[in-house]
Amino acid sequence: MPIVALPQTTVRAIGSTSVISDSCSVVKELIDNALDASATSLQVELSLNTLDVIQVKDNGHGIPTEDHSSVCKHTFTSKIQTVDDLKNVGGSSFGFRGEALASVAEMSGGVTVSTRSASEVTGTCLKYARDGSLSSCTRTSHPAGTTLRVTDFLKYIPVRRQTALKDATKTLTRIKKLLQAYAFAHPVLRFSIKVLKAKNENNNWTYAPSADTEIVDAAIKIVGRDVTACCVVKKFPSDSLDPSGYELLAFLPKANAGMQALDRNYARLIVRAEIIKANNQGQFVSVDGRPLSVSRGLGLDIAKLFKSYARAAALRNEAAKSITDPFLYLQLKCPQGSYDVNIEPGKDDVLFEDRELLFGMLESFFCYHYGPLQTAQKASPKK
Ligand code: ADP
Ligand code: MG
Repeated sequence: MPIVALPQTTVRAIGSTSVISDSCSVVKELIDNALDASATSLQVELSLNTLDVIQVKDNGHGIPTEDHSSVCKHTFTSKIQTVDDLKNVGGSSFGFRGEALASVAEMSGGVTVSTRSASEVTGTCLKYARDGSLSSCTRTSHPAGTTLRVTDFLKYIPVRRQTALKDATKTLTRIKKLLQAYAFAHPVLRFSIKVLKAKNENNNWTYAPSADTEIVDAAIKIVGRDVTACCVVKKFPSDSLDPSGYELLAFLPKANAGMQALDRNYARLIVRAEIIKANNQGQFVSVDGRPLSVSRGLGLDIAKLFKSYARAAALRNEAAKSITDPFLYLQLKCPQGSYDVNIEPGKDDVLFEDRELLFGMLESFFCYHYGPLQTAQKASPKK
């Protein structure tokens, strides 16, 4: 076959599946858009199969009339203008490619947006066709903000649809976890998830912070009192005038006692008990409010580093085998321009210019908290 150019519709259809892989990535994109619109309350609603309905309602700044026809067009964005802007996009906006909604429209039966900006008296209901064009525009009542509703997701990709239907339960769990990660990354915002027509309320979840929510209060609401009780808040560097510009806020199983206390045996017992209690809750890592995936890339490397120190601390007590997925909440604030967010379509991985500096800092922090790796390993003779 000769080399020929693919028609634009085919190029877009192929491209869309790489931007949006499943219902969880749709929810993620809609949440990112709501955060970019400065929303303080984000409500997710899903059908039980996660495909018929995916909806996020926010109280952000809404979509101005002049932008209504561009919302679902490929490469149309209000967030950056030049490639240089990417350097600084890190902490200021989550989106930047203008691809998400166009891809969602391409892959679903319909995208409906109801929106109203604070200055408008009534809202507008906008419907978009598969090619991203605006197919209808009517007046509607809507509070200030935006509700974006996707129906019949994966309608045109039957194999993925079938697989997704089988995976619905797992996907719901992942979406809930995703929301928890966002709540940890933005503990002062309100997040909720509701599964429509579900027989039970297992997957419904509301995170409603109080006005002065601290990380401990947030953690109680997200992972519960038992886990929270055995964790401690740590800041690094403790000197806020540190010139590096990096700031790390962690909430993790207590263990300082393990390396410093005089009564080492007693301290080891505590370490073991605390880390075990905080097991199976997973790691939540965010960079400037952007939750990172902890199953790949930088997030995975950070999670692995943490686990090796936590396990080493527990190993002193031969409890390491039972430590599989200890809880960690880690919030990183980084100097502007120190990392690139344009790494992969999900935008949940970042590339640091000076990775060694970051990991040096993380190692020092975990080492200070849990004790050095080597000593810990030496201190645990194999049976
Ligand atoms: P990106 O976020 O990369 O710009 P998207 O396809 O996700 O691309 O969104 C396209 C545009 O639609 C955004 O740039 C933004 O201007 C607008 N938009 C989408 N969702 C919202 C929302 N919830 N509130 C306000 N504006 C929105
Ligand atoms: Mg977006």
